[in-house]
Amino acid sequence: MGLLLPVVTVSLFLTSGTNESMVAPATSSIVQGTRVERPLALPEAPASAKQSQTAAGQALEQSAETMLSLSVQPGDTLELLFRRNGLSLADLAAMTGLGDAREHLRLLRPGDTIEISHQAGRVLSLAKQLDDVSVLQVDRNTTGFYADILTREVDIRSVSRHGVIQSSLFEAGTAAGITDAVTMNMAGIFQWDIDFIQDVRVGDDFTVIYEELWRDGVKLRDGEIVAAEFINQGTPYRAVRYVFSGGDSDYFTPDGRSVRKAFIRAPVDFARVSSSFNLNRRHPILNTIRAHRGVDYAAPTGTSVIAAGDGKVTFRGIRNGYGNTIILQHGGNITTLYGHLSRFASFRIGSRIKQGQTLGFVGQSGLATGPHLHYEYRLNGVHRNPRTVTLPPADPIPAEHWEDFLTAAAPLWRQLDLYQRIRFSTASN
Ligand SMILES: [Zn+2]
Repeated sequence: MGLLLPVVTVSLFLTSGTNESMVAPATSSIVQGTRVERPLALPEAPASAKQSQTAAGQALEQSAETMLSLSVQPGDTLELLFRRNGLSLADLAAMTGLGDAREHLRLLRPGDTIEISHQAGRVLSLAKQLDDVSVLQVDRNTTGFYADILTREVDIRSVSRHGVIQSSLFEAGTAAGITDAVTMNMAGIFQWDIDFIQDVRVGDDFTVIYEELWRDGVKLRDGEIVAAEFINQGTPYRAVRYVFSGGDSDYFTPDGRSVRKAFIRAPVDFARVSSSFNLNRRHPILNTIRAHRGVDYAAPTGTSVIAAGDGKVTFRGIRNGYGNTIILQHGGNITTLYGHLSRFASFRIGSRIKQGQTLGFVGQSGLATGPHLHYEYRLNGVHRNPRTVTLPPADPIPAEHWEDFLTAAAPLWRQLDLYQRIRFSTASN
């Protein structure tokens, strides 16, 4: 297909498309078991004030409750933090004696934050964030301290972003406002259909709908991708996430088939390759299927080479010009070969290998002018192009989930359609 039209589309999208994120309104945050903010909270008193011996100073300290937010540095223990801030070590001993609190107070990691309220060093409460959703809360009552693990609800927001490839997949992701991790996960969803190292082109575009986890107005992290579309050289690929009742999930195409196939297209760690790979500086020699009928992936030495499919190791050693080579035997009389490796992962001839398992590492052993993976795919001994060979379709979604899948997926397909319409109207303007 011509490159001119997609390139024109690219620039139009860059001005409007990439800013086009749709953030769902935040659901109201339900905080379970939140303690009411103490009205007397004051900024931390300077140390000198704490040690003030004047009667007026003491009276003020005894009535004022001070909030401390302690940030744990490497080497810190709770005892050090208590000493440094003039907090009661007797209170610390009482709190660490509580069954619910002991373990969580003993294990401090740099970056942890501990919130303490106290009156002149007498601890009233302590809170430590344990993970995204739980907080250890220790409070003083009339008889002593008691500890609780509180659960704070996390808001899940749906975010939709659209990007167009101008130089590289990861740069397009960044321009669209998504992290490398989300970009990588998206590529992971389509790795059975698209060779993200060799087949991505300027003008390819994508839409990704994913979750963000927020708590109390602060974004914690990105969640799962719920739907995605990648248009590669004009061919659209779509997938939605479907969660089974047991909690397992997988990605399915519009016709209800798993995205997973017997072979992935590019058997290298594409994150490592793609992130340093600029389409505008594509290697002129390594870009094509050569006469030897393998595919060459230029990649830094040491990049992981992974099994394209489940199989059994039938060769592991030096094979003439291919240097360090691995051959896998798969079902259906298919073999795959991986050459020029710098070293092997640990397994033997005869070992069973799972798809995606690391076989070895990119190198330039044998006759190679630079570090690259030489990859071959043969059916009944005949070379096929692994990037385009038709793979048997994956298993469909189980019949009992079909109706539910259609219902769950419908709004997501519609959301992806929205970008399709924007694309067409932009292209025809
Ligand atoms: Zn080669």
